[in-house]
Amino acid sequence: MNSKFSPLSVLREHFRFESFRGCQADVIDRVIRGEHAMVVMPTGAGKSLCYQIPALMFRPDQGDLTLVLSPLVALMQDQVDALVARGVDATLINSSLDRTTREARQAELSGGKYRLLYVTPERFRKPEFVEMIGRRNVRLLAVDEAHCVSQWGHDFRPDYSRIAEIRHILGNPTTIALTATATAECRQDIYRQLGIAPSDIRLFHEGIDRPNLHIDIEPVIDEDEKWQHLRDAMADQPGSTIVYFSLIKTLMRFSDLLTKSNVEHATYHGDLSRGQRRSMQNAFMRGDIATVLATPAFGMGIDKEDIRLIVHAETPGSIESYYQEIGRAGRDGKPSRCLWLYDQADLMTQMQFIQWANPDANFYHSLMYVLTEHADRCQAYGLDWINQHLQRVSPHDHRLETAIAMLDRHGVVAGPRPPECFDVISDLPDTLRDNDKLNEKTRRDQQRLYGMVELAKTPAEERQSFLNYYFIGNQG
Ligand code: ADP
Ligand code: MG
Repeated sequence: MNSKFSPLSVLREHFRFESFRGCQADVIDRVIRGEHAMVVMPTGAGKSLCYQIPALMFRPDQGDLTLVLSPLVALMQDQVDALVARGVDATLINSSLDRTTREARQAELSGGKYRLLYVTPERFRKPEFVEMIGRRNVRLLAVDEAHCVSQWGHDFRPDYSRIAEIRHILGNPTTIALTATATAECRQDIYRQLGIAPSDIRLFHEGIDRPNLHIDIEPVIDEDEKWQHLRDAMADQPGSTIVYFSLIKTLMRFSDLLTKSNVEHATYHGDLSRGQRRSMQNAFMRGDIATVLATPAFGMGIDKEDIRLIVHAETPGSIESYYQEIGRAGRDGKPSRCLWLYDQADLMTQMQFIQWANPDANFYHSLMYVLTEHADRCQAYGLDWINQHLQRVSPHDHRLETAIAMLDRHGVVAGPRPPECFDVISDLPDTLRDNDKLNEKTRRDQQRLYGMVELAKTPAEERQSFLNYYFIGNQG
């Protein structure tokens, strides 16, 4: 290849970096040759360049385009802005654009403009988008946060489940899947979902070791003890801090305690408005507020380098979630502390979450009954009404949300959200009628939670090898 257009020259010219890191260069060589790659690198290691550099090496005069699927609408804009600032011809289409802008952009794309396009997978539901993309030569499909593809992953996104169909629409282009956390089992499922034979995709695994993160696990017996440890940890480590909770009500109790102790902090959780969450996040990013108490949604894609302390005040549901969350600490490479306050009683909360994430056959049956027999009331009163009709337990029971997503995934309803989700277009498939199959998923979720128990029991000096085995297993 002409050295002017070598990956290294593109790296220097567009990104102003001197050299590649880790396996970036090998990954890039492979995808330029038209071969599939699965990339597992820790957060902050530089996964994006693995598809951005190839995107800049393809031929714009032939309509070549690199399509990036990303589940995070909030993050896309930042990524595209950063690329545009570097003079890269990148853009996005998502639900945040108004119609005029979207149509104008699709027209530009049809005409061959842009080398990189970021979208969420749900974009493929729109016929005009599919038609537009058909006019481009998609040379590379990048699936970012690829663990979201897998139902066995810890962060399954229903819209990602149509990925093989999307690849098919695109003419099965070269595909690169990227994630920071995927176990061997999850990777196999990703290949299956992509419709790529394991022998056709090469795994690039940089391991998961983050030597500057110090993992502490502190067994506690009640909330008082948690509070003591939290206060000590915050006093020892005055830098940027995230304290994670599973439950908003626990988060609020700790927020009250901190307020009474005159400790300034922000909170971030699902009961706040989008605007409030945004302003909390900005204050934390700017360093105006050092500490944020948050539920796990906080931090997804947050590129703050100097987070010095991450405390888990409640136990996460899996090692994958835990590792993703602590991965946000110490991106600048400086020593950072990850403290997990482990109270066995928290496992009950997670068991409850697992129940909610796994509706049984009876629940699906009742939901189908309501959707078909009370179709007009569903349309008129919406999801809240259905929830009340199905069960009167608690407003935080997420079974309905999960069940609707599954109905959509199986093509039983016309879409994932109102009003399409009330439109029944097919029968309930066997998998959603069969409690044995449904229980298999529940058991996997329980096993993942049990992984946390095992991690807690592992002596400190063996933790790193435990985690390595958990994530890497037998390479493949
Ligand atoms: P990831 O997606 O793996 O979490 P990113 O792709 O967002 O990580 O990259 C993290 C940071 O590292 C970015 O600021 C990026 O510009 C930088 N980076 C990536 N590769 C290199 C490199 N070869 N040299 C210097 N900086 C790099
Ligand atoms: Mg990334």
